[in-house]
Amino acid sequence: MQITKDSVVQFNYTILDEQGQKLESNQGETPVAYLHGHNNMMPGVEKALEGKQAGDSFTVTLPPEETYGVRNESEEAIQRIPVKHLQGAKVWKPGMVAVVNTDKGQRQVTIIKKGQFMVTVDTNPPLAGKTLTFELSVKEVREATAEEISHGHAHGVGGHHH
Ligand code: ZN
Repeated sequence: MQITKDSVVQFNYTILDEQGQKLESNQGETPVAYLHGHNNMMPGVEKALEGKQAGDSFTVTLPPEETYGVRNESEEAIQRIPVKHLQGAKVWKPGMVAVVNTDKGQRQVTIIKKGQFMVTVDTNPPLAGKTLTFELSVKEVREATAEEISHGHAHGVGGHHH
């Protein structure tokens, strides 16, 4: 079946920058699952997957507006937080990406400057502002269950577990 509204889609991806350098990939791992047509996926990726089916592999290049968004260059994007709030490594250096818990869930931040107790971070998503190429492989397409549609997300492999 073709991907359309209320399809549950499983796919693998590789993200490349404009120089063709690999930034992120889940090839060979558990695919990502999402409910199509419910704003659960980056809009450009969702649009590219529309009408595709299991077994399809293709490449699409997308502007930042359709993926991680444009960068927020205002001062509020730069914040000072305690070093102990950073998760993901023991030793931090400028340029490294850390995970922090916020009241809106986990966020990735990029270290700008590190002091002994406080660290200055850029709260823009690390891939914001970049034109990105996605290599996408559709693994499975099925109709969503009534429960998934009422929850607004996919269940099962790669999806939500309650
Ligand atoms: Zn659910």
